[in-house]
Amino acid sequence: MFKIGFVGWRGMVGSVLMERMLDENDFQGFEPIFFTTSNVGGKGPDIGLDIPSLQDAYDLKLLEPLDIIVTCQGSDYTKEVYPQLRRNKWRGYWIDSASTLRLEKNSVIVLDPVNKPVIDGGLVSGIKTYVGGNCTVTLMLMGLSGLFAGHHVEWLNSMTYQSASGGGAKHMKELVSQMAAIGRVSQELISDPASTAIEVDALVTEELRNSSHPVEQFGVPLAASLIPWIDRAMESGQTREEWKGQVETNKIMGTEEKPVPVDGVCVRVGAMRCHSQAFTIKLNKDMPLDEITDIIGEGNPWVKLVPNDKESTLKQLTPAAVNGHLTVPVGRLRKMLQGPEYLTAFSCGDQLLWGAAEPIRRILRIILEHLS
Ligand code: NAP
Repeated sequence: MFKIGFVGWRGMVGSVLMERMLDENDFQGFEPIFFTTSNVGGKGPDIGLDIPSLQDAYDLKLLEPLDIIVTCQGSDYTKEVYPQLRRNKWRGYWIDSASTLRLEKNSVIVLDPVNKPVIDGGLVSGIKTYVGGNCTVTLMLMGLSGLFAGHHVEWLNSMTYQSASGGGAKHMKELVSQMAAIGRVSQELISDPASTAIEVDALVTEELRNSSHPVEQFGVPLAASLIPWIDRAMESGQTREEWKGQVETNKIMGTEEKPVPVDGVCVRVGAMRCHSQAFTIKLNKDMPLDEITDIIGEGNPWVKLVPNDKESTLKQLTPAAVNGHLTVPVGRLRKMLQGPEYLTAFSCGDQLLWGAAEPIRRILRIILEHLS
């Protein structure tokens, strides 16, 4: 029986992975062993099986007998442990949610509804490292996979509205703390029917600029504001989040030799765990909108087309509606005034599901099928 080690299972991505694996009855046909970086000997997750106590995630002697290691622990862990294992000639499969190994020559970025042929090619050629992609890129491709697979995209621009969860658990909690602080200072005025919105705004602005406002994680207020910068600066003037758009899209699609230009502006907004994106797409040729609609809708089983009307958009195309769901709605689809080859669309997706845990869950199953 294959031995599979899980590291980082109690973090935000890891716990969503555990939930999804339990939902899909995935803990079957292998021996799961759970690891920790902080609580050796502690109790592992409740997966309905007898499992040993938590093992030391840094102990190479415990890791080397494993056939597969699944880690959602983060980049620092990957940087420390992965090179040592490979140096020691460990030939097992490494499945990772961290970005560290994404662009390595001997790794595949996994998103099987979109790039199964690339994954299959990797497995056949003996690649042993499989990494989840950037959440924004992954959600863009889940929405538009039909257009990419049909080679209909000449270039794409994505303006993003990214949730707090992309920064991690502490960022999500800080967003809610900011909301709570705003609620506290304005409560009296908003419950007074005679107060004006201008008065409320003055109080909220004062709170946002107050040195006691909770901004330890984001550096500035996010609630009642936004942050048009995610990750670090690149020489191109892009942020690293923006830079990943083109690089990861083309690696996922296997089009690195003739890359599709992908660029845009990535913005953090006060959503909890859904990233939204507004696309401008230059098509390779003019196509009728109903044909484009079919191509997008048939891209994969999780895309859900939302009619371009107000009621459907408000009901189906917002983070509040999409949170916790695997479907990736795509709406606001229309040709643009710029010309018949210019298409605009809007999509929204749960970044902890397709943007993080789900591609990891699915590649584990794919590898197990490949090995059996
Ligand atoms: P996280 O929530 O910070 O969890 C990472 C580890 O922190 C846990 O496995 C746990 O390790 C430790 N930890 C310490 N205190 C904890 C607490 N109170 N609750 C839970 N865990 C605690 O990290 P993450 O956001 O899941 O991200 C993991 C990796 O996935 C990162 O490389 C990230 O870049 C990548 N990723 C994240 C997202 C996202 O949306 N957040 C999306 C895609 C990829 P021990 O059990 O060993 O102590």
